Amino acid sequence: MLDLSDSHTHLEDYGPELPAIVQRARDAGVGRIITAGSSLQSSRAAIRIAESYPDVYAGVGIHPHEVSEAITDETFQELARLATSSDRVVVVSEPGLDYFKSKAPRELQQRVFRQHLRLARDLELPVIFHSRDAYWDCLRILKEEQVYQVGAVMHYFVADQRIAEECVDMGVYISFSKTLLSLPHLHQVARTIPLEYIVVETDSFPQPWKKKNPLEPAQVRRVAEKIAELRGITLEEVAAKTTANLKYLVGPRLL
Ligand SMILES: [Zn+2]
Repeated sequence: MLDLSDSHTHLEDYGPELPAIVQRARDAGVGRIITAGSSLQSSRAAIRIAESYPDVYAGVGIHPHEVSEAITDETFQELARLATSSDRVVVVSEPGLDYFKSKAPRELQQRVFRQHLRLARDLELPVIFHSRDAYWDCLRILKEEQVYQVGAVMHYFVADQRIAEECVDMGVYISFSKTLLSLPHLHQVARTIPLEYIVVETDSFPQPWKKKNPLEPAQVRRVAEKIAELRGITLEEVAAKTTANLKYLVGPRLL
């Protein structure tokens, strides 16, 4: 049987549709979903959802779009409290750097990213991080903060082959999303980097403008199918391996 995992998604705004969305994911062979906090409020919501579904897990953290001077030591104390309040919290997500869209100054983003990495080390949780137009700074900071101690995933990977190889050299996993279907430069990356470093995700959130084929965790299957096609292996193999990778990264909390 297929055993896929959606390593990164945002379930908190689906409202009453959520039970059907989780069920459709199960029907598509998705055995586990990690829903990522992106603020204190959404981290709390992620935990609530993870506690309501046996196959949903949570990440806590602040997205670079949400970074401002209002993020203080107290914010991190609250994130630590949330993370230790539930054994459904399995990752720190999704901190990072966004030099394209975030309005926060780069120095502030970097400080907050470092604080997340220290939090992850304190909590012994891996980090699923966001990186947009900031790949080398992200990787440098991950190195400086010794994130290899807990492990990390570059989520929504759209960077180039060199970045992918640097990730693998550092032991950082790469998470492919549906952009693998539309960005040809990613095909080479997906074909050549070791399967041991690949996980898959949808990064779903409600997109009401997409009536047909809305983005939801069930579609992680399409990402895995594309990897199978590119590598000339079966969908079952991709599912088994990417799930094993995620379990290895997270540890025994992830069933
Ligand atoms: Zn995300």
